[in-house]
Amino acid sequence: QNLQHEGEKLISTHCCYCGMQCGMHIRLDEKTNKVVGVEPRYDWPVTLGKLCPKGVTAYQTIDHDERITKPLIKKNGQFVEATWEEALDLIEKNFKKLQKEHGKDALSVFGGVSMTNEKCYLVGKYARAVLGTRYVDYNGRFCMSSAAGGFMQTLGTDRGSTLPWPELEHTDCFFMAGSNTAECHPTSIQWLWKARDKGAKMIVADPRETPTARIADVHLDLRPGTDDTLASGMLHLLIKEGYVDEAYVNERCNNYEELKQAVEGFTPEFTSKITGIAVEKIVKAAHIFGRSPRSVVMFARGIEQQSKGVDNVRLYTSMALLRGQIGKFASGVATFTGQANGQGGREHGQKADALPGYRKISDPEAVKYVSSVWGIDPAEMPRAGVSAYEMFDEIEEGRIRGMHVMCSNPAVSAPNLQHIWNGFNKLDFLVVSDFFMSETAEFADVILPVTSWAEDEGTTTNLEGRVIRIRKVKDPIGESKTDWQIMKVIAERMDKGHLFNYNNPREIFDEFRLASKGGKADYYGITYERIDQEDGVFWPCPSEDHPGTPTMFKEKFGTPDGKAILPIVNYRDSGEVPDEEYPLYLTTGRVVFHFLSGSQTRRTEFLMQQCPVPYAEMHPALASQYGLVNGGKVKLMTRRSEMELEVRLTKAIREDTVFVPYHWGKELAVNVLTNPALDPVSRMPEFKVCSVKMKKA
Ligand code: SF4
Repeated sequence: QNLQHEGEKLISTHCCYCGMQCGMHIRLDEKTNKVVGVEPRYDWPVTLGKLCPKGVTAYQTIDHDERITKPLIKKNGQFVEATWEEALDLIEKNFKKLQKEHGKDALSVFGGVSMTNEKCYLVGKYARAVLGTRYVDYNGRFCMSSAAGGFMQTLGTDRGSTLPWPELEHTDCFFMAGSNTAECHPTSIQWLWKARDKGAKMIVADPRETPTARIADVHLDLRPGTDDTLASGMLHLLIKEGYVDEAYVNERCNNYEELKQAVEGFTPEFTSKITGIAVEKIVKAAHIFGRSPRSVVMFARGIEQQSKGVDNVRLYTSMALLRGQIGKFASGVATFTGQANGQGGREHGQKADALPGYRKISDPEAVKYVSSVWGIDPAEMPRAGVSAYEMFDEIEEGRIRGMHVMCSNPAVSAPNLQHIWNGFNKLDFLVVSDFFMSETAEFADVILPVTSWAEDEGTTTNLEGRVIRIRKVKDPIGESKTDWQIMKVIAERMDKGHLFNYNNPREIFDEFRLASKGGKADYYGITYERIDQEDGVFWPCPSEDHPGTPTMFKEKFGTPDGKAILPIVNYRDSGEVPDEEYPLYLTTGRVVFHFLSGSQTRRTEFLMQQCPVPYAEMHPALASQYGLVNGGKVKLMTRRSEMELEVRLTKAIREDTVFVPYHWGKELAVNVLTNPALDPVSRMPEFKVCSVKMKKA
């Protein structure tokens, strides 16, 4: 039962942070029109009234004192307030000048997936149809791209979960790889606990004994970057021990014989040698997983943010395939989507190589169809661009001269940050749309004040693939505009206003439904009314009388012949492995109190009290070799940069590994150290593995 406070309105919406998209009511004071708190939504079927510390405090960013409320223009190195007219004049002048002098591709767009589906859809259209540039990509490249690439290659369609979350309660075994669910998607844990109460087992593969690993039946404490070997070792044992569902595999998978051969050498002893996990634990995990009638393989950035991320996803997905688990009740495979709309945001065409509906920009039929929806000549559709990190290579080469960043803070979240900072400094013109002065915004020539998540309506797609409604709580603060309104006014300035003739998000959603029609991520049958009536609708949903698809791949996969493609992997090392000069592993990740680049959570008092600064977490045995003590200072050095951090000692980490959370900027940004080695398919940088040396600071 939610508390209805006198003089307040309760508006039903979802948390702005992670892909769980927990249901909440925002409390609005009717007199002051200020947001004063939240109430959990007990009736929301995915999260049942649970919120994590970030969700409970998310409302505090809405009316925050530090909100940017007017356009800002940089003059002599200082930001000064300006009118929208002045800001737009400057943008029009510079965008047109750069394109006249250097061609259409001189401009670029860097998007984000914390925006609604409506806005994510428009980012691709804005870049390609308004600015006419091939250079568009987004922060999901650093988040979900390896899961997307791995699912596409194996299952033929990329929906992050093949099953609805409430079914997890009925699962017998969770195999979790590189996922610290208890901290990163905390409200998910309730489903795992419900299943454990009924006897389910949990296996967790992670170099750290995270809060998730602590509650596991088996913790596979592998060396960073050896996930492909561990998965292959598990596949080897599933085959050798007779745990393969042969009928399912024969009927529904290709390449089984090839996979068998490929993992032949991955005996428990060999797997143990490469991963550092004890043989007994590997064998025990395989038996538990192999004997469970219903199992779900779950993973997250731990296996995905690697230069082998796509291969990792393919191999772990194959564990579910060999057991015949995908397409069935309370079974399957799932990745934990990082950002609010990490699923929807990657489907609608803001990726360098994709058009709405998860179509490929290299497919002439897709170009023809989407051009017809947009009302442009197919010949005007730019070719594929480059990935988020590679855009900064293009800046260095002088090919990209201007950029518009929306809903993203790559000055903290990208790898090898000095390269990113150099790129921002080199740009002739940078526009940033944001509602706080992020580290990226500080580089801008013009900052456009954008509405927060509670000042506009639209839809997101949660980590299950369920399309849900985000509701407007209050009118925009100050002079801020929504991202779609900003793209619209710039389109008008670029003489393309006719392509952005929208009055509200519903009109954008209706166009987007049509643009997605017939694609892999087909939203055509989803309407705002259906979402309200049905507690969200799962895609694919090709017509208004289609029920949506809570369980994916019941009969066939999304590949041309309907069969899953088991992988044949070329095993290789991570981009960097420890050597004499840099003898340790560095890995990065999240803490429960902060979200991604921290731009919002670092402005939330309670969360900062809990975790004010980053730290270097390491084993006491390792620390003692370097004369380091808890609370002392350490200097970490990689081939890219160096930084000083406070030491935090814990026995819950391997003795060869240092962990640092990445939610801070500038001199506290661990991404100055990380390796930009890219996965060859997903172009995901290797945030999770690099080699490091250290000394007492
Ligand atoms: Fe839920 Fe994620 Fe928000 Fe926490 S951050 S309340 S888990 S959506």
